[in-house]
Amino acid sequence: MRIQYHYCLENKWGLEKFLNTNEISYEKTDEWLDGDSLLIFDLYEDEKVYTKFKIHFPYVAMLDADKSVVYSKEDIQNAEWLTVRSKGTKVQWIYNEKAFNQQCPYKRIFIKDIYYRHLQQTDILEATKRVHWGRRQYFSGPATGDTFLFCSERAKSLLNKKWAGLSFYPVKKYRTQKMIDDLYQLYFSEVLSVNAICGGKKIICRGCGRELVYISSMVQMLHIDRQHLKDTQMVYTTGEVLTMDSIHNETFSLYVVPQEFYQFCERYEMNRGMVYEPI
Ligand SMILES: [Zn+2]
Repeated sequence: MRIQYHYCLENKWGLEKFLNTNEISYEKTDEWLDGDSLLIFDLYEDEKVYTKFKIHFPYVAMLDADKSVVYSKEDIQNAEWLTVRSKGTKVQWIYNEKAFNQQCPYKRIFIKDIYYRHLQQTDILEATKRVHWGRRQYFSGPATGDTFLFCSERAKSLLNKKWAGLSFYPVKKYRTQKMIDDLYQLYFSEVLSVNAICGGKKIICRGCGRELVYISSMVQMLHIDRQHLKDTQMVYTTGEVLTMDSIHNETFSLYVVPQEFYQFCERYEMNRGMVYEPI
């Protein structure tokens, strides 16, 4: 496990020279009107050059990084349980409120619309069009930031009935309401108890009073109490109890799968674009 900092900084104060001297690869954007361009690069906390960077550029080092945890293949292979999502954005998902039980309404200042803190899916989802899966692409997420996971017919036939707690929902075409060919949503029906989730901070939803788990960033690792994860042929969801939103308490969920699920997808070369993180 390594802590990675992703930077996107103006080419000032000798930054490019520093990167060149220390052999850090970077991308350089076109120049702005004032003649400056942006430099995009990654540094790792365990590298000596990161310490050097902090000394040379103390203010930028503190302010402008996008911090994330990067796991090695070994980290993933050694974990009994993992969260899973896809980096892919191939599915043009459309939000239809009829497919959800909208819970815990609230208003935002100066905005007329009603927002909901928790959304529980109760019907199949809609998308604008079918997905053209590449030869090696089996899964994708939606083109929005949501954590839904979709797959192709081929992926469904390989995974179907192998994992308890996992079913495959078709996806409807927006407007015509016909089922879209070769597109399914992975639906995780086994919901972990909120008591099983450790590592974040337990808070009470300010709207409905339910117990939630607040995580300040993805870097903070969540843990699941192993007593609640007994069966390695099963997959789970945390349920709509995770939140990174300390003001409105909007929730999201994560999917939890056993090492066997990862191994299975490795064997069939299905893991392209998939992100597994030890939990
Ligand atoms: Zn609530």
